Amino acid sequence: MRILVTGGAGFIGGHLAESFLDDGHDVTVLDNFEPFYAEGIKRHTLDAHREVADEGDSEYRFVEGDVRDPETVREVVDDADVVVHQAAQAGVRESVKNPRKVTDINVSGTVNLLEASKEADVKRVILASSSSVYGKPRSLPYEEDHPTEPVSPYGVTKLTQEHMARVYTELHDLPTVCLRYFTVYGPRMRPNMAISNFVSRCLNGEPPVIYGDGQQTRDFTYVDDVVDANRTLLESGAADGDVVNVGSSDNISIQELAETVRDQLAPELEIVYESAREADAEHTHASVEKAGELIGYEPSRTIAEGVGEFIEWYQANREWYEPLVQVS
Ligand code: NAD
Repeated sequence: MRILVTGGAGFIGGHLAESFLDDGHDVTVLDNFEPFYAEGIKRHTLDAHREVADEGDSEYRFVEGDVRDPETVREVVDDADVVVHQAAQAGVRESVKNPRKVTDINVSGTVNLLEASKEADVKRVILASSSSVYGKPRSLPYEEDHPTEPVSPYGVTKLTQEHMARVYTELHDLPTVCLRYFTVYGPRMRPNMAISNFVSRCLNGEPPVIYGDGQQTRDFTYVDDVVDANRTLLESGAADGDVVNVGSSDNISIQELAETVRDQLAPELEIVYESAREADAEHTHASVEKAGELIGYEPSRTIAEGVGEFIEWYQANREWYEPLVQVS
């Protein structure tokens, strides 16, 4: 299969491309190195792709380009069997600062991709959505039919993307599926997320900083589980035109998370509290029942196990990763 991974130099797209190459698929990565965080992390990801491609006999192509440019998108979609769309301006706070840009990338970029996929008769488009589409929780864990009332421009763009995908399925018979990821973490994760931040600070003898009272809860998802959900959907016709949660279903408060990391790395440090940041969700918690029924999805780790693994990875890769985390 030839798979196009947009945003494939990024955190999640990078793991997806690596795993598809490992499975023997031909992979094209499209990414514009959006300067949201250190480019060096993305360069490491592309090196990892080349290594895997060199070990097997998969074809690998990297195209530096922008999903906002319809010509570039048409060119890379043209020979793809499946499109896995991860390119986006992620980050709730960035979307509050810069809503026009986020809308351009996340909505117009997605329309370019769907349009090109329709023209090229792509077999399936798998899109990265987000728990941010839910907004204020009426009941937890979130099931997919929970009301969607996003509380940030980012959440609105992801919800718009979902509707656009569904409409392409209904109007043009283009098979699409949107996966609602719940805070994803793991090797090469984006800087400025709670887990990498706590680990980096504790290893450097600085106290972990919590924004708010720490009672916010999150459903942290290990990146391997996100990869598994996408891999299953490459070959399956399940969930066409639909949305599916991908989470760990094991949520934890930010306070507990900070304590877990601190107790493991620097028990002497006192946690510091600063004022809460706008547009952050209070609580997220995924029901993964639908994912289990449709694609046999099952989270592989508890959050405590996954955080332990991430800390091990961070320590083994500290030399190159930490300076890049700190400049981001
Ligand atoms: P990331 O920022 O690491 O990856 C996104 C990649 O897209 C980056 O490499 C970036 O350079 C690229 N990109 C951005 N704008 C582009 C453009 N205009 N043209 C081409 N490439 C562009 O983020 P991530 O954490 O890997 O997120 C991947 C996807 O998953 C995104 O769609 C994000 O919204 C979604 N998501 C992520 C999380 C999470 O916790 N990481 C949670 C929910 C949803």
